[in-house]
Amino acid sequence: MTFDTKARQRAKTSIVKSAAVQNYPGGRPVLPPVVRASTVLFDSVEQMEIARSKRDVSKVFTYGAKGNPTAFCLEDAISELDGGYRTRLFPTGLAAIAMVFTAYLSPGDHILIADCVYQPVRRLVKNFCQKFGIRATYFEPSGSDLDDKIEKGTRAIYAEYPGSILYELCDMVELASFAKRHALLLIADNTWGSGLQYSPLRLGADVSIIAATKYLGGHADVMMGAVTTTEEAWAPLFTMCDTFGMAVSADDAYLVLRGMRSLSARLAAHEHGALQVARWLCTQSDVAHVFCPALPAHPQHSLWLRDCSGTNGLVSFEFRNVDEEGSRRFLNALRVFGIGASWGGFESLATPCYMQDERTLSEWSGRGPVIRLHIGLEDPDDLIEDLRIGFASCQGVRTAR
Ligand SMILES: *Cc1c(COP(=O)(O)O)cnc(C)c1O
Repeated sequence: MTFDTKARQRAKTSIVKSAAVQNYPGGRPVLPPVVRASTVLFDSVEQMEIARSKRDVSKVFTYGAKGNPTAFCLEDAISELDGGYRTRLFPTGLAAIAMVFTAYLSPGDHILIADCVYQPVRRLVKNFCQKFGIRATYFEPSGSDLDDKIEKGTRAIYAEYPGSILYELCDMVELASFAKRHALLLIADNTWGSGLQYSPLRLGADVSIIAATKYLGGHADVMMGAVTTTEEAWAPLFTMCDTFGMAVSADDAYLVLRGMRSLSARLAAHEHGALQVARWLCTQSDVAHVFCPALPAHPQHSLWLRDCSGTNGLVSFEFRNVDEEGSRRFLNALRVFGIGASWGGFESLATPCYMQDERTLSEWSGRGPVIRLHIGLEDPDDLIEDLRIGFASCQGVRTAR
């Protein structure tokens, strides 16, 4: 599998451009400086007033809560990578999602949410939307029930491509044309695609959210969220971010910028390892299903071929004839894979999934336990050996079917 050269080029230019921050006598560093600041000083009241008058339309350094030069570099790099007008940064990916809800929805509004969303979005619906009189309806990732579920007050569609854990694919082009017909805002969680392997804004979405905690940071040492929008969709987000005082530290912005420099090389390696592990899992008798959009057996594989330039390190699988207890033994036997939440770092992870909490429209009961693997940058042969030991440790607790 090769990476789309245009996407690779995009990643490269956005990273090169971000270095040109400031000139020093003698030369300039490759990397942008880390500019830590709350207070920003001006030479005169007039200079301060001019800077302040510009800050609602352009990136000017006026106060730490309005952003800092290191974070501005990162915003520009993500805008270019994800193909948008501008970007705002948040302390976590979930905070980015929450601010999108806050910025674009009002009491009385209705939002359509893909049933395959990142699970904490359901908590946002329960604890935030319900409290503020915003109604939400889950729709099939295929979009087949949208005509039935749209209402008079529907304002937005919230999609995730591909869905968390099972990687259902929605057709963003179709969603965009539906949204356009009904004057809805189309919001997409693009954490999986990282702006490099998938670009919802280029397919017609208005708002793209990336948890930079994952592949942009890439080293399991920083939390961050990013929201990139089209020019038309920008103003409400920008206003609400400043109203709520949303800002990230220069140190964290620096870590994400540094991670982005190797994004395309890391993703190629994650993809290589994940495909090798996914193909091996398909041959295992303890495995009922392997979930990965790059596998030809994936139900919407042709959509993946059409819209993506690659896959990442994520592969999930469903056990066959192994119960919860067996699944636990499997996880506890692993030595190379870590047991832990999140993904996108250099290290391999295995996480149990609680499918009963993950979907509203489909039933998981009667099916086997699911584990999500994140294939890191280790040797895939070592990872397969580790999984082999895991499967061997389930023996004796297989369910008879
Ligand atoms: C991890 C994740 C988030 C949230 O990111 P955090 O930085 O962990 O808050 C949002 N969406 C998706 C699809 C994710 O995988």
